[in-house]
Amino acid sequence: MHNLNVLIVDDSKAMLGIAEATLHEVGIEKCTCVQSGKDALSAIHHASPPFDLLFIDLNMPGMDGIELIRKLSTSRYEGAVVILSALDEKILLLAEQITSSLRIRLMGSISKPIDREKVKTILQKMKTMCSIYQTQYSQLNKSEINNALKNNLLTPYYQPKVSTNNGKVESLEILARINSPLQTNAITPDQFIPSAEKLNLIEPLTYNLLNRVLEDLPQLTEEFGTDCRLAINISPNSLHDLHLPEMLAGILEQKGIPTHRLILEITENIPIEHPSQLETLGRLRIKGFELALDDFGTGFTNIQQLKSLPFNEIKLDRSLIYNIAHDHISQVIVQSLLNIFDETQVDVVAEGIDNAEDLNYLNALSYPLMLQGYIISKPKNADDICRWHHSWKKTIEDQL
Ligand code: C2E
Ligand code: CA
Ligand code: CA
Repeated sequence: MHNLNVLIVDDSKAMLGIAEATLHEVGIEKCTCVQSGKDALSAIHHASPPFDLLFIDLNMPGMDGIELIRKLSTSRYEGAVVILSALDEKILLLAEQITSSLRIRLMGSISKPIDREKVKTILQKMKTMCSIYQTQYSQLNKSEINNALKNNLLTPYYQPKVSTNNGKVESLEILARINSPLQTNAITPDQFIPSAEKLNLIEPLTYNLLNRVLEDLPQLTEEFGTDCRLAINISPNSLHDLHLPEMLAGILEQKGIPTHRLILEITENIPIEHPSQLETLGRLRIKGFELALDDFGTGFTNIQQLKSLPFNEIKLDRSLIYNIAHDHISQVIVQSLLNIFDETQVDVVAEGIDNAEDLNYLNALSYPLMLQGYIISKPKNADDICRWHHSWKKTIEDQL
């Protein structure tokens, strides 16, 4: 069932045997076993396809597990790590230390002998985190996308980001949907954004969507006020298009909307490093747009780069937020990120909050955050999001 490529590192042959058998039982087919840190680094270096998940014993003669993990953060390994040992202070400290690399993710720790249920929990977490598990949806083709654009079938849905300070809706994220006359449910972006990107239709799609948003804007402004901003998703590839800043500013200008009302969310799952991308980012800021780094924690931006890029907002990916109320390692990672962000004056959004326990945990942090997720509101069309806001305001007033 899982096509994960797994490496187990343990000096004990017997332990390796047990671990491998347990992983097979839960459906992991590709398992490599090595008995030392040195062999692990060599296996990682030569692996093709690369490993997705490493199980590492902490106590090994020679290079111990902690040293191996430290070495990983400067290697080309980009997968996840599970520690074969009980969760203790040493591991939490390690989580904090490797946070700034963010290329490897400490998924958890399992005491030996490894238990099938624990492995299943870890795999469940991987599922939330890894795109390799994402279902491949059938994609709309060129004429279907063009048809949607031409016939005004592209529809903006809105999902609120609310402040932990006072529950106020600070901004609404615009999420594209296609309303098909043949289907009762709107078509979701996984079915048309990847193909629009491939077919060079993503810019027309973005401009079309923004124009549709401007039709909703009077209603949204009346309900949410002029200081509530809108956030639109921009594909990182669109940053190569040097006309993007003028095009977006032109669309807003027609309706007299100031550029600072629009936040551009740019996903970090492909690297932003090409000079034309950096130039576009700079010019967007100069024109007054706000910039958000989306899906932070999944991709290519490390803390050092982040400090040099002109972002106003960082969105912590839902893989970092998922189950945070119960996951000590996620708590340590998020807390140490917040300590780093504290110096940079960016707004921090926690996205994908889908249960009350995680919501309560994040609300109780002393760091001011913006919260977004199904537990607050699913993405809704303009009428429905305004209706949602009526009841949300009542809930907030009752709490004050
Ligand atoms: P994203 O920018 O990371 O948007 C957040 C996605 O997470 C949305 O999915 C949203 O519905 C979903 N989400 C929000 N809260 C929760 C939660 O509590 N639990 C779970 N499981 N999911 C939650 P959606 O609307 O299907 O959009 C998927 C992706 O498609 C977006 O991810 C974004 O990358 C892309 N996308 C959407 N609209 C556009 C667009 O107009 N342009 C571009 N370039 N990409 C878009
Ligand atoms: Ca987004
Ligand atoms: Ca996101």
